[in-house]
Amino acid sequence: MNAGCSLADSCPAHDFAKYVDEHPGYTVISYVNTSAAVKAYTDIVVTSSNAKQIVDSLPAGEKIIFGPDRNLGNYINSVTGRDMLLWDGACHVHEQFSIAKILELKKQHGDAQVLVHPECRKPVQMVADKVGSTQALLNYAVASDCQTFIVATESGILHEMQNRCPQKTFIPAPPEDGKCSCNECAYMKMVTLEKLYNSLRYELPEITVDEAVAEKAVKPIRRMLDISRNLGLIK
Ligand code: SF4
Repeated sequence: MNAGCSLADSCPAHDFAKYVDEHPGYTVISYVNTSAAVKAYTDIVVTSSNAKQIVDSLPAGEKIIFGPDRNLGNYINSVTGRDMLLWDGACHVHEQFSIAKILELKKQHGDAQVLVHPECRKPVQMVADKVGSTQALLNYAVASDCQTFIVATESGILHEMQNRCPQKTFIPAPPEDGKCSCNECAYMKMVTLEKLYNSLRYELPEITVDEAVAEKAVKPIRRMLDISRNLGLIK
């Protein structure tokens, strides 16, 4: 029950609702890492995989609020040419990567490519060979001829990358504070196989969402799925 998300926490529903109310006429896009209460104030939910295509699908000139991740929002602005208003939120893991240490690693491993999730800060994105969602980074690593990668995202994905590419080398990008394991998400690490088994087997622990909130929150998720279907991103 404690496995939350610092990014979702950076967007309290009450404050977000106030911000949305202060900007009438804006379409509200929220990243999937948000509470149900924030989704209830959202028009379209996006993931890091489909955010660009969904924003591109909206009419040019549409006024958009994007939350909660300012880094992802900045990135989507840069690749779509939009000027979305950005909520000032961030993920504690993705904000921690040290640009100096990544550049140092690049010097040590001359042929290494840098893979970066768009939740990372802009300077880290600027040294990337590939910026993309977790899935996009994984696909890139599999398809690339490169043998060594420095990976700036939650370190759990390195396990899957190594599984899919046993001959290649994956180096986790170091956080600013060399003594901590800040590139590991403390929340995600709370999710163990045993807990997952119990959740599936016994449907516990149960999380109850207020019915009125749930009814509103599901609409932007359905809209994401409808747009994704129309764009051919999903079947
Ligand atoms: S790494 Fe953890 S805190 Fe960051 S967005 Fe993912 S779940 Fe949230």
